[in-house]
Amino acid sequence: MATLEIKDLHVSVVTDDEPKEILRGVDLTVDSGQTHAIMGPNGSGKSTLAYSLAGHPKYQVTSGSVTLDGADVLAMTVDERARAGLFLAMQYPVEVPGVSTSNFLRTAATAVRGQAPAVRTWVKEVKSAMADLEIDPAFAERSVNEGFSGGEKKRHEILQLALLKPKIAVLDETDSGLDVDALRIVSEGVNRYKAESAASGEGVGVLLITHYTRILRYIQPDHVHVFAGGRIVESGGPDLAEELETNGYVRFTGAAVGGA
Ligand code: ADP
Ligand code: MG
Ligand code: MG
Repeated sequence: MATLEIKDLHVSVVTDDEPKEILRGVDLTVDSGQTHAIMGPNGSGKSTLAYSLAGHPKYQVTSGSVTLDGADVLAMTVDERARAGLFLAMQYPVEVPGVSTSNFLRTAATAVRGQAPAVRTWVKEVKSAMADLEIDPAFAERSVNEGFSGGEKKRHEILQLALLKPKIAVLDETDSGLDVDALRIVSEGVNRYKAESAASGEGVGVLLITHYTRILRYIQPDHVHVFAGGRIVESGGPDLAEELETNGYVRFTGAAVGGA
């Protein structure tokens, strides 16, 4: 079983002037087979958590730890994180001009698997994963994320998820900018990988970051955490998401200001 363990994580963002503390003691454990949703208002630091897990240089860990099965994630390079089985889909995916999506996917799969996938099976794998996500085959020859619509970027993320088969997946705002059909396709893609990984092993652990409850109608969380003021201020089951849908975050943002 895989376990991602985040302990008392403090992170500052490096800006032109003073570093600014954004994460103020995040504690969270995600095990194989579990889906955790992190929900919280804009600006509460959710993406900062995702970027910190991804090793983005702008985000400096000032204290605390992140481990995957006991191994120090924060000491790993971005490639090492991927090889260890961590998948990080970003709210604002980068464009990679001049690199076709199919080359990008093959390079990523080679890095994660430790060897280049055999061409014939790989081509089939990619085609079938693209068909599952209703992605136009011509998409494979376009440069990564260049001119992709919001929906195409998110489908591309889930295509990576399906092909790279991580142990733990962190998905930040996978639902943002999606119309209802795209939201369904993307959610089904996540659920398909959850089911596939559960059938062949322990099941992927998912950390789903969002500020809308709507994606949680498609991807059902086992645990819901409210994020405010740079940390988790409340945890519960799926009911908590329903409460947030009704009442919003006011109760928590008040608490976060008082506690900061
Ligand atoms: P969320 O994803 O919950 O909306 P973010 O993590 O994006 O929140 O942002 C949390 C806070 O950190 C905000 O006040 C934001 O302005 C600040 N912040 C995040 N990244 C940067 C950055 N690269 N430079 C300056 N400030 C940042
Ligand atoms: Mg934001
Ligand atoms: Mg965000």
